[in-house]
Amino acid sequence: MMENNVHISELLKANHETLVQDWLASSGSHLRAHIDQYFKNLNTPDQDVPPPIPEGYSLRQLIIDYKLLREILFNFLEIRKEMNPSSRKFLIYTIDKMLRIIVEHFVSEVDLKDIEINDILNSINDGFVTVDKNFTITGVNEQHVRLSKKSREEQIGRNFFKVFPGTNDPESDYYKGYHKAMKERIFVSFESYYPPLDIWTQVNVVPKSTGGIAIFYSDITLQKKAQRTLETEKLKFEALFLDSSAPMALLRGEKFTYEKINPKYADLFKGRLLLNKPLVEALPELRGTMFPKIMKDVYETGSPFIGKEMLVPLIREAGGPLVNSYFDFTYSRIDDSQGKSYGIYIHAIDVTEKVNARKAIERALHSRDEFLSIASHELKTPLTSLKLQIQLAIRKIVVGGEKKISSESIVNLFESNVIQINRLVRLVDDMLDISRIESGNFSYQFERVNLCDLVKKIHEQFKDTFRNNSSGLSLDCDPVAYGNFDKERIEQVLINLLTNALKYGDNTDVQITLRVKDKKARISVTDKGRGISDSDHKRIFERFERLVSAKEISGFGIGLYISKQIVEAHNGEILVESFPGKGSTFTIILPID
Ligand code: ADP
Repeated sequence: MMENNVHISELLKANHETLVQDWLASSGSHLRAHIDQYFKNLNTPDQDVPPPIPEGYSLRQLIIDYKLLREILFNFLEIRKEMNPSSRKFLIYTIDKMLRIIVEHFVSEVDLKDIEINDILNSINDGFVTVDKNFTITGVNEQHVRLSKKSREEQIGRNFFKVFPGTNDPESDYYKGYHKAMKERIFVSFESYYPPLDIWTQVNVVPKSTGGIAIFYSDITLQKKAQRTLETEKLKFEALFLDSSAPMALLRGEKFTYEKINPKYADLFKGRLLLNKPLVEALPELRGTMFPKIMKDVYETGSPFIGKEMLVPLIREAGGPLVNSYFDFTYSRIDDSQGKSYGIYIHAIDVTEKVNARKAIERALHSRDEFLSIASHELKTPLTSLKLQIQLAIRKIVVGGEKKISSESIVNLFESNVIQINRLVRLVDDMLDISRIESGNFSYQFERVNLCDLVKKIHEQFKDTFRNNSSGLSLDCDPVAYGNFDKERIEQVLINLLTNALKYGDNTDVQITLRVKDKKARISVTDKGRGISDSDHKRIFERFERLVSAKEISGFGIGLYISKQIVEAHNGEILVESFPGKGSTFTIILPID
């Protein structure tokens, strides 16, 4: 508890108190020698045994001198308020303890009838009872009268076990301890609970040379209760910590060394070792982020930090990639018993799934809104042109009068009407396809088809469009690839891929390839246009997902979604390889005979 080998006279000297020093000097060298010896024994196994009484010095004188020293010290400390509080406590505690162990140790030798000795017994903080060999109470001190709530008269001359009924049970520690000391004439020490008074006691029993025993005890109820509460609180906290569904951790010191983590916290970092490592060593990915800095602020100021849906890039698995995770979390400072910063307690909730789900919903809602606005625009444009064309025709027919409208121009008119109507039909078909896919009513008509013929047909169909677009469309095709397909649906997929190559290929040459290998046909459409970044490769196959605005290039964002459904219904797959600025290759892989 305190510094070892503290020299009491040095302590006093340091405090310039001549009164005590003078007194110590005048009391002769005996007391000083005894005290010095005692201080030497502090923090050694001998500390509870008083040093032997110096020759030429009596036990009575020693006790009286100590008592006097204690009184002088008390007075002195009253005056010297500026004295360091821990030195002050140390002095009183040490002298008190010294007195107690001397009395305990030599109780068999002191004359309890001696008024001065009795005075000392009354002044010590322990309860004190002496009994003769028949357990008849022969002496009590004031502290015991107070603690036992029984007057001196109710006790002296009576049998101890009758006065204190609870101690009469042969199983009780009191019964066993007192009988042992009495019978074996040895020093016995124990701690026990005394139910009638609801107190915890620390008991030392000393055999007396005149027969009988002396019982010293102190009331340790408060310590015990505090200890108990602390233990249950600790257990409760441990249970909470271990079973909590929230990740929790305790990091120690200003380096934030992981001291304790609960299983949920460990789950966040599968296979990574955190315990006993400083934060930035355990999780190097946090180096240079704001988190160590926030932790430092909390550690220094003591005001907690509460983060909501904070983005934390973490390696969630040993050797794995850096993953963007979202957390609701608190950093709070934990103080030690002296009120100094001890470390940081982290309580976190992983909200990554929640945040990602919300972001997906937000994106889906945004895409849907965009789809609605594009759809209405796309439907309205051909309708408006149709209306205009028809109005024009009516005017020509009615107003034309003598200048009769030729059948040739009527055919031209109808042909441009048909183009607009086809555009409308395609749009409505796409929308119908989507709703059929959603309701599970997308049906297929399988027949035996040579994919080569199909690819050639589509190539033929698109060649001119590409030429008009000042780009080329080449074809490299293995000759035979028979399998069971819905011809129209596979055509629909190829048309979609080629339309995209036209729209997003930025007028570059486009190549169609068909390769047959291992009972699989791979049909690829390659352009050298704008390309698609890695992070969007998955997204473009989802409904209404587009990487360009409708103003820039018109479209619904459903072509690839429908294509994927069709290919998968044929037990095939659709893949994209693409680099921004370098172009894209979309490949469909289909099983063949
Ligand atoms: P739409 O073309 O109607 O937008 P799709 O589902 O066919 O719908 O395509 C989804 C998105 O994928 C397009 O909006 C475009 O951003 C991107 N995309 C498709 N094909 C290509 C391509 N060949 N090159 C670059 N981007 C493409």
